[in-house]
Amino acid sequence: MRLLLIEDDVALGEGILQALNREGYTVDWLKDGSSALHALLSETFDLAILDLGLPKLDGLEVLRMLRHSGSNVPVLILTARDATEDRIAGLDAGADDYLIKPFDVSELKARLRALLRRSAGRAKVLIEHAGISLNPGTQQVSYNNESVALTPKEYQLLYELLSPPGRVMTRERLVQLLYGWNEEAESNTLEVHIHHLRKKFSSDLIRTIRGVGYLVEERS
Ligand code: CA
Repeated sequence: MRLLLIEDDVALGEGILQALNREGYTVDWLKDGSSALHALLSETFDLAILDLGLPKLDGLEVLRMLRHSGSNVPVLILTARDATEDRIAGLDAGADDYLIKPFDVSELKARLRALLRRSAGRAKVLIEHAGISLNPGTQQVSYNNESVALTPKEYQLLYELLSPPGRVMTRERLVQLLYGWNEEAESNTLEVHIHHLRKKFSSDLIRTIRGVGYLVEERS
């Protein structure tokens, strides 16, 4: 899961970033509205956490322009206490949910889980391929009807390779999806995750396309 956090308050942003990284989310963090809009329009995120009071471009404007472009990425807005009008304007502009500052980070995590579940149920169905069954709603994975325990990164990597199978995923794309811009990835981390996935499923599940990336064959 790759999330975009847009928050200009550095202390709050760092707190959110750390909490969400611990949950296994990949989080990219931007601190102004115009770079956020640019990122949302040019890259793929599973969800955005959007503060409304932002420099350069107001959060509400970011949201309006994002929805105007046709994007339906789930957006959770952060608003100041008592700003009822902001909240209403945010929901009218297409926010999926809101949190009032200050909030408890455990509430943020619960809201994110609910939003991600909802969007998974809306957009994605059970992925079944080569004996693997992956449920994007619950993040449960089984292989030949036996449950398989995956780390958050392994899950995400498998999810990306299987949606849909038959596409070569470049190394760069996978590293970006798994680590975003903020997290430093060791140079061989991706290979280690691939190795673990092959061990947990089958050695020929993921093909290495030398010098390019990885492929799960379409045939099962
Ligand atoms: Ca702010």
